[in-house]
Formats: sequence, C-alpha cells, structure tokens
Amino acid sequence: MHPSTLVQIENSSPAGGRAARGRLPAWLRKPAVHHESVMELKRELRALNLHTVCESARCPNMQECFHRGQATFMILGNLCTRGCGFCSVPKGNPLKREFVLDPLEPDNTARQAAAMGLRYVVITSVNRDDLEDGGSRHFAKTVEAVRRELPGATVEVLTPDFEGNLDAVARVLDAGPHVFNHNMETVARLYSRVRPQANYRQSLEVLRFARQHRPSALTKSGLMVGLGESGAEVRELLRDLREEGATDVATIGQYLQPTRRNLPVAKYVTPAEFDSYRDFGLSLGFRMVFSGPFVRSSYMADLVAHEAGHAA
Ligand code: SF4
Repeated sequence: MHPSTLVQIENSSPAGGRAARGRLPAWLRKPAVHHESVMELKRELRALNLHTVCESARCPNMQECFHRGQATFMILGNLCTRGCGFCSVPKGNPLKREFVLDPLEPDNTARQAAAMGLRYVVITSVNRDDLEDGGSRHFAKTVEAVRRELPGATVEVLTPDFEGNLDAVARVLDAGPHVFNHNMETVARLYSRVRPQANYRQSLEVLRFARQHRPSALTKSGLMVGLGESGAEVRELLRDLREEGATDVATIGQYLQPTRRNLPVAKYVTPAEFDSYRDFGLSLGFRMVFSGPFVRSSYMADLVAHEAGHAA
C-alpha cells in the first residue's frame, strides 16, 4: 500500500483551521493505544543505555511504530547542544559528565537492531557541536557496526548539519548508509525562530554534497508545516531541495507542540493541503513525497524507500 494512503485512512476530515490550544482537528486524533510490547522495547533499550528519537522527541506515532517493532535510534547520547524551538530532546551543558560518549553505543545499537529483527534500521543523533568532529566518527562507527551485524539490512542515517563540516558528512557517508537523510525542518524565513543555530543554505549544501559524494545513496529531507510558513514558501523549499540539494525524497508532516516550552502550533494544515504539496513535489521530479499530518521523517521509512525505488 502507498504510505500516504495509510495515513489518510485515519485522517479523513475535510475541514481546516487555525490551531487552538487543547483542541485537535479530527484528522489529528489518534486512538490512545497502549501495548505491552512498547514497554518491553523501552526496557530493552534502557538496559543497553540506548535512546530513540521516538521517545525523546515525543513522537505521536511512537505506540504504533514500537508496536510494529520499528524505532529510530538516537545516538551520541540523549542531550543536545542546540536549542531548536520545535524540539523536545533534552538540552544540556556540554561540559557535564552526561555528555561523555558511550563507547559501547555503536555495538549495542547493532545488537539491539538485530534483536528486534530489523531489516531497515534508521539512525539519527543529537547535535554534538561540542565535539571537534561533531560526533561523526562515532556516527560512522555505529553505521559500520549495524552493517556488520545485519549485512542484509538497509541503513538510513538522519544526520545533523555538522555545522557545515563536509569532512564529517563524508565520514558518515563512507560508512555505507543506503539512505542519507538531513532534515531542512522549515522554510528559510523561519530558521531564526525554529532552528536558530542552523542555516538554510548550509543544510541544502549538506544534501547537495551527499548526493555528489555517494551517488548510490538515496537522499531524503523532511519539513514540518504549521509553524507559520506560507504555501508559497513550502513550494520554494521543495524547489530548492530538487535544484540545490538534488534530493530524491521529501517528507512533510504537521508540527505538533511537544511541550509547553516549545513553539506553538500556528496552523493545522488540512489533508487536502498535504495532498497538494505532495502533488507539487512529484511534479518537480522527487521520486517520492510522503506528505500527511502524521508523517515524520522516519515514519514508515522502509516503505518510503521502497516506493522511491530503493531495492532492499
Ligand atoms: S515516526 Fe519515526 S520518530 Fe516517530 S515513532 Fe515512528 S520511528 Fe520513531
């Protein structure tokens, strides 16, 4: 089944509207389900001192993904050196002890991925601007460990911008991921509010470099809508991803405020608007545009890569 079809089954209201605190439109209501398998997976992760962005970023799909046996590993610890307005991953002072890298993390990630029987492994990380290499060596070691442990699996990396350090990007690419993902997150105008320590052109450059450096890897990027951007700005970003980043796959999802400390939602984008972004992206030549309210960059990543033509 086409991944966007899966989302639209549960999100079928045609109405649209401005965000109102505490009230979600019908297409953003998910039934609260709790599965014992979710608790079990959390216990396994904690036992190995592993983290997932699913938990740390309070992803609304967590119950569903964990129940399906899917999770996105978040490496380089559970504390981020940046203060992006949309993100609830814990931030901290890099001088603190908690920032010391766990040397066992690469092998433990590989071991846990194998224990979960994953055929498609997604690895992301916090930003580690405190480290000279941005954590790229540790990132590469993790990709290598997973490829060793699971030689038949597809590996997708969702990387930071490494502050534009292309040697660091190359290091991760040389470890052999099949899919390289770097999220733009939002339109150029909103960077100073949403990603104050990042740079729109720099992120495009990371994607363009990845395409050139490892042409066999699928390139992918994601953005959130509902942060105050206009439709024209989203279309401009999609154009930039195709022209300047030469990106194959785009994911577009609704921003949801993870905690009261994060940026408020400016608008709930309607399913029809998500469809129009998808159609526009496809007209630009993306191999796949996954656009819908609950889409996140790693949501159904295996199906998305398959749709984009990646042969697992
Ligand atoms: S969509 Fe991605 S981040 Fe969210 S729960 Fe699923 S795998 Fe984790």
